[in-house]
Amino acid sequence: MRYVIIGNGVAGITTAETIRQYDPKGGITLIGDESAAPYCRPMISLVLEGAITPEKLPIRGSRFYDDLNIQAVLGNRVTDIDVEKRTVTVGDSSYGFDRLLIATGADPRPIKAEGAALGNISYMRNQDHVQTMLAGLRDARRALVLGGGLVGFKAAYGLLRRGLAVTMLIRSGYPLSMQVDEEAGMMIRDELVRHGLDVRVDIEAIAFEGNGRVRTAHLSDGSRLPCDIVVIGKGVLPALAFVPRDRIRTDLGIVVDGRMETSVAGIFAAGDVAEYVDIARNTPWVNAIWPEAVNQGRIAGLNMAGRRVTYPGSLSRNVIRIFDLDIMAGGVVDPPQDALYRTLVFNNANKKLYRKLVFQGDHLVGMVMVNGIEQGGLLLAAIQSRAQLKVPRETLLEPGLNYGRLLWRPAIA
Ligand SMILES: Cc1cc2nc3c(=O)[nH]c(=O)nc-3n(C[C@H](O)[C@H](O)[C@H](O)COP(=O)(O)OP(=O)(O)OC[C@H]3O[C@@H](n4cnc5c(N)ncnc54)[C@H](O)[C@@H]3O)c2cc1C
Repeated sequence: MRYVIIGNGVAGITTAETIRQYDPKGGITLIGDESAAPYCRPMISLVLEGAITPEKLPIRGSRFYDDLNIQAVLGNRVTDIDVEKRTVTVGDSSYGFDRLLIATGADPRPIKAEGAALGNISYMRNQDHVQTMLAGLRDARRALVLGGGLVGFKAAYGLLRRGLAVTMLIRSGYPLSMQVDEEAGMMIRDELVRHGLDVRVDIEAIAFEGNGRVRTAHLSDGSRLPCDIVVIGKGVLPALAFVPRDRIRTDLGIVVDGRMETSVAGIFAAGDVAEYVDIARNTPWVNAIWPEAVNQGRIAGLNMAGRRVTYPGSLSRNVIRIFDLDIMAGGVVDPPQDALYRTLVFNNANKKLYRKLVFQGDHLVGMVMVNGIEQGGLLLAAIQSRAQLKVPRETLLEPGLNYGRLLWRPAIA
């Protein structure tokens, strides 16, 4: 059996490891455009802020590929997949496959602004981006971060820790709007402002000026902002430009079934590039988060190696500390105004304690917690298992409640 894996992120390497576990003899070729040892992508922001050195990033040893007898084609991009001939193209070479995995992750969402190619304007998706940013920090005093999502927040935090004056521009009304609801978002905004971040909402950068290197941003309200470094953190899009969309079905991501197989037999997808059902929303979704990339890589690897294993679906979730706020959120955090959903809220502004639980019938489908998050993991597990609630909903709101005592009965599909 010839396996080809495109992408050497966590989904790709988890698939490779799983295949090797169940098929010791099959030929595995892993093609990836990053040549460093597999590393923990979410931790690159810790390098930016100076909390760790890059040596702490690898998640596998330097002998990883050799030990698993994997042919690693690194520093190279796949440019095409020939579905009929069962080959992928890398430069002038092509690699034949019996089973293929597409695990190319996501690309930062580009911005449309004049001058965006100036020096010291960068994304923060990989190790090289962070090294570029660190090099650009010399003589930099003022930073501008575009976007208030997870990456934008982490970039802003890192730059603040490096002593820069940081302005964050958010098009929506509050930071982390994909992760939390408005109430929690406003608490986060206040916390960021309290720690010196200049947060501006409902505004965008429309152009940049500088002599080789960025010096000024032109904003959508007509004002100008001096800046020495700009980070673009406006979300990500599945990296599927090379995928033949007329053959392999795509939506926002590459559409897969519960075995992580695409619309073409023998071609699988996993990680940030793949789209499958979101458990809480009960609709196709791309949940671009690390734990789901690992889960999907494992499921893809098992099925590629001949087992039949079904993935239950993904769940958006995040835990993050923002100065003095611990945030945990997952599932549906902002339900539509719909009789199907019921929301319960506990809010103690003095103690900076906030909880919101979202129910659909007898099922918990979403949660947002600010501080007091210790037992939030059990709530996430309840969302994930689609368990039916057997206690009054209100009891879940009580701070200090021992969630472990709650009884859950698995829902009957
Ligand atoms: C700064 C930052 C912070 C984050 N924080 C969190 C967090 O707190 N929690 C969380 O759950 N997730 C977080 N994430 C998201 C998490 O890193 C991703 O969900 C995860 O890395 C996805 O893994 P993947 O293997 O699908 O894709 P990736 O890690 O993106 O790996 C895909 C690999 O494929 C390569 N590739 C792409 N196209 C091609 C091609 N054509 N040919 C060859 N190779 C190609 C890419 O260069 C990359 O090396 C964060 C991400 C970033 C950038």
